[in-house]
Amino acid sequence: MEPVYPMSSELPAFQAKNIDASYVFRQLADIFTLVGDDNFFDRLTQCVAQILHVDFVLCARLDDFRHQSVPMSFYTPRGHQQASAYALAGTPCETVRGQDTCYFAESVAEQFPSDTLLSDLGVESYMGYAILNRAGKKLGLICIMHSETLTNESVARDVLRMCGAQIGVELERQASLKQISNLAYQDGVTGLPNRVAFTEKLNSELYEAMRSTEVLSLLVLDLRRFKEINDLHGHDIGDSVLALAARRLQSFTQQGEYLARFGSDEFAILMPGLGGVDLPLAIERVKSAFHEPIRVNSKLSIYVEVNVGAAQYPGESESGGTLFQHASIALEHAKRVATRSRIYDASMGQFLQQKQSKLQRLAEAIRNDGLNLHYQPQFDLTTGELIGAEALCRWHDEVWGQISPMEFIALAEERGLIRDLGDWVVRTASEQLRTWIKESRNFKGVLSINVSAQQFDSPYLVDHFLRSTHDIPPEQLGIEITESIMMRYPEQAMKLLGRLRDRGYSISIDDFGTGFSSLSYLTRFPLSALKIDRSFVTALTTDHHDSTIVSTIIAMAKNLKMTVVAEGVETEEQAQVLRDLGCQHVQGFMYGKPVSAEEFEQRWLS
Ligand code: C2E
Ligand code: MG
Ligand code: MG
Repeated sequence: MEPVYPMSSELPAFQAKNIDASYVFRQLADIFTLVGDDNFFDRLTQCVAQILHVDFVLCARLDDFRHQSVPMSFYTPRGHQQASAYALAGTPCETVRGQDTCYFAESVAEQFPSDTLLSDLGVESYMGYAILNRAGKKLGLICIMHSETLTNESVARDVLRMCGAQIGVELERQASLKQISNLAYQDGVTGLPNRVAFTEKLNSELYEAMRSTEVLSLLVLDLRRFKEINDLHGHDIGDSVLALAARRLQSFTQQGEYLARFGSDEFAILMPGLGGVDLPLAIERVKSAFHEPIRVNSKLSIYVEVNVGAAQYPGESESGGTLFQHASIALEHAKRVATRSRIYDASMGQFLQQKQSKLQRLAEAIRNDGLNLHYQPQFDLTTGELIGAEALCRWHDEVWGQISPMEFIALAEERGLIRDLGDWVVRTASEQLRTWIKESRNFKGVLSINVSAQQFDSPYLVDHFLRSTHDIPPEQLGIEITESIMMRYPEQAMKLLGRLRDRGYSISIDDFGTGFSSLSYLTRFPLSALKIDRSFVTALTTDHHDSTIVSTIIAMAKNLKMTVVAEGVETEEQAQVLRDLGCQHVQGFMYGKPVSAEEFEQRWLS
């Protein structure tokens, strides 16, 4: 049985000839709040049929390429029916265009004899309205069909116009989600899967290998002296070399192997089921892909060489992260030997001992106040006004020197120290904010704190956060989270974030654009701002793909009523492009690097 949804209140006993317009619009408004839900289109067509007393309501997307309509929902007197795509030629739908409704009051079936559906359904009248995007392009249509002439032509026109506008927004939103998620999994230069796609694949292959006690090998490779190629011939040639190298590698990989591009000149290949003795052969096979020079154009051929590092599961590597880390360590060793390839072995694991020692010292630093917070200012791109700051954790160790937060945060996450570290950050940042507020330092913006995905595994973080910050105006404090939080436990994260948002704290999504597995969840989370990842900003002025992504992100954020902050702005040129694209806020070295609290006060608060 097709679901028939209850209306929000019973239909009033009005005469079909006398529709109460305010009732109609109330019903529609209720349905419009469901935009984004899976059954939005079905609810809408049913609602329109019921409030206008018409037999059929069809909502369809346009397939420009094939000149046909693809029904998204078709409501009939027997409920929703599946309808297949139909050619537009010779149908009343073909005449629906522009911003006017198109109405055939009677004998529509006779006027369009080749549209046999009309006569099959016994349709007498037809009204259609085109669904347009903001640029005026036709995306689809909504139409009503009835066995008699419509009695409420003018209400029907209004209803279709309102529905058309709402469906247009939804179709555009869906199109941008799709575009972003395609771009997010694919590397724009080579067309290969990117790091995000690769990481997912690595985890699933590793799970499979563990389950079936199979071997899994990972090769990480980079092109030797690629920087020289770029410097000497320019970035366009550099990109061509990468694309051609990718194609070479593709033709030297075998069935079941998975090739991805990781970063600038880094590639990775997953090889399931390869025995220990076969690994050196596989490495040689990959290297042999570059025996012949790469022919970039009729005048330029370039010899490319690769360094290869490899690691295998089972062995020293017991997780996707360590397998990758080991292959990368092997790659570092490969760069220093004539053969240009190495397979990871335990002797390279000095690294692991170092890690253990760092871990102990990190635990001490957290306990003994050996960490530090730096603050990076954020500005309004149009007015130049200071609108906030991001608190960034720093660790200077006597033995190891300055260690990057990327490294020690990952270490803390891996070894269960992140809760203590996170508590310290919340405490210290809120103390600082209290001081800035109390001493009338004129800090009016929002201070944001980074929170790692693991801290959302339990309600502890939110409890602790609310306790530690209860005396601070919530509009001056926010947290930054990454998309992975929504992917891990979306339901739990939604609840916890909801608690923070209800209290008035702002929630930004950090490094946006780097991993979109749960993009569809985005609309359901109580987010206040999107921070566009630095990698997109860096490439903004050179890479067309990236500027497309950035402009889509900005458009989407506006749709969702979220603020956009661009991270890592380093040049005026980038700032100008961002301004042109309608980005509101910025953060980056060009405006101010992360600095100590004292320096921040001196530079930005006095
Ligand atoms: P993030 O939250 O995305 O922070 C922005 C990073 O970009 C910072 O790196 C900042 O110094 C850097 N940055 C800002 N503007 C520019 C620019 O114009 N150019 C360049 N090249 N870099 C810029 P940092 O401080 O090394 O932090 C790295 C990451 O470590 C942070 O990325 C965040 O994910 C994590 N992190 C830092 N502090 C904490 C913390 O207290 N808790 C947690 N969970 N993570 C933290
Ligand atoms: Mg951040
Ligand atoms: Mg970031």
